Amino acid sequence: MDILIAEDDRVSALILQRALEKMGYSVIVARDGGEAWRLVNGGGIGLVVSDWMMPEVDGLELCRRIRGRIDTVYTYVILLTSRDSRNDRLEGLEAGADDFLSKPLDAGELVARLNVARRILGMQDLLRAHATQLAELQVALERQNALLAERASTDGLTGLGNRRHFDETLASAYSFAVRHDQPLSLVLLDVDHFKLFNDTFGHQSGDDVLRALADTLRSRTRGHDFVARYGGEEFALILPGTGSSQALSFCERIRSSIEGRRWTHRSVTASFGVTTTTQPAQNLVELLRQADKALYRSKAEGRNRVAHFDEDMTVSVTAIVEKCESALEPEYRLGCLDRLREA
Ligand code: GH3
Ligand code: MG
Ligand code: MG
Ligand code: MG
Repeated sequence: MDILIAEDDRVSALILQRALEKMGYSVIVARDGGEAWRLVNGGGIGLVVSDWMMPEVDGLELCRRIRGRIDTVYTYVILLTSRDSRNDRLEGLEAGADDFLSKPLDAGELVARLNVARRILGMQDLLRAHATQLAELQVALERQNALLAERASTDGLTGLGNRRHFDETLASAYSFAVRHDQPLSLVLLDVDHFKLFNDTFGHQSGDDVLRALADTLRSRTRGHDFVARYGGEEFALILPGTGSSQALSFCERIRSSIEGRRWTHRSVTASFGVTTTTQPAQNLVELLRQADKALYRSKAEGRNRVAHFDEDMTVSVTAIVEKCESALEPEYRLGCLDRLREA
């Protein structure tokens, strides 16, 4: 601990300095209150032993200035005084002194007063150390919490949002779209024949494909779109402010970039199901059901394609039958239709 002595009398200053250095303190001496004030402002002074009577800035004024400083560290001030009256001491306390030492100096009193100062300053150091530790812990805790929150919402394999994150995002994007009367498109994407891929090239290679697909989706979507791993080899895209034709062409671009990519083992393709909020009667469950239905149609129509949900799909079997009827030769047609109807 550095002790600052403020004393205009050279002999008194020297006696005090020797006594303090003998006790093991490192001491700085200021010849007047003004110099002492500058040194205190320089920082690093824990304890000031100041004479009362000094020219210009006296001990009382020095006390007042020290107490007026805005600092996180407390400076302990002992006033040296030959003035013993009650009023003088009260004035000293009022100015901000912590303790008094009588002049001429008494060695025993000096030790006792310094021990008090050390106890109080030591307690302050301890509290500060605790506060610093606490602040460090707080920062570590916040970092940990952020990490946990991120893990809880991220898919470990691809780094995309996970299903939980998707559910939350879709719910808020959907209510935003409804509130602001804006379109919202939802896309489900499923890798084609992925079981066969895994069976042929191994699960690790399958994982590589899923990661590469995630990269493609991430790089192709805009800032306010949201991509998630919906399930095993299924991904979901939330496209706010995107109408059906826009969503379709967007998906078509992604589909063809997946198809056109140079894959390590064999070409990988995916099927897309798209739906767009239109009717106010829609709800989240219905929206997902529609995207799923559209995806199912992509698969049924041969995979590696994009289908948008439309109400006709609810009668899709009829539509298929009609298409068959118009396409097939009469004799063959009868057998096919019977089998289809049975199915
Ligand atoms: P379809 O074209 O009809 O979608 O055929 P599919 O083989 O892709 O469909 P299916 O649902 O039969 O198989 C999905 C496969 O996805 C089976 C499963 O092993 C694989 N899969 C799911 N999650 C993962 C994963 O995390 N890593 C790997 N490598 N494969 C996965
Ligand atoms: Mg003096
Ligand atoms: Mg699947
Ligand atoms: Mg699949």
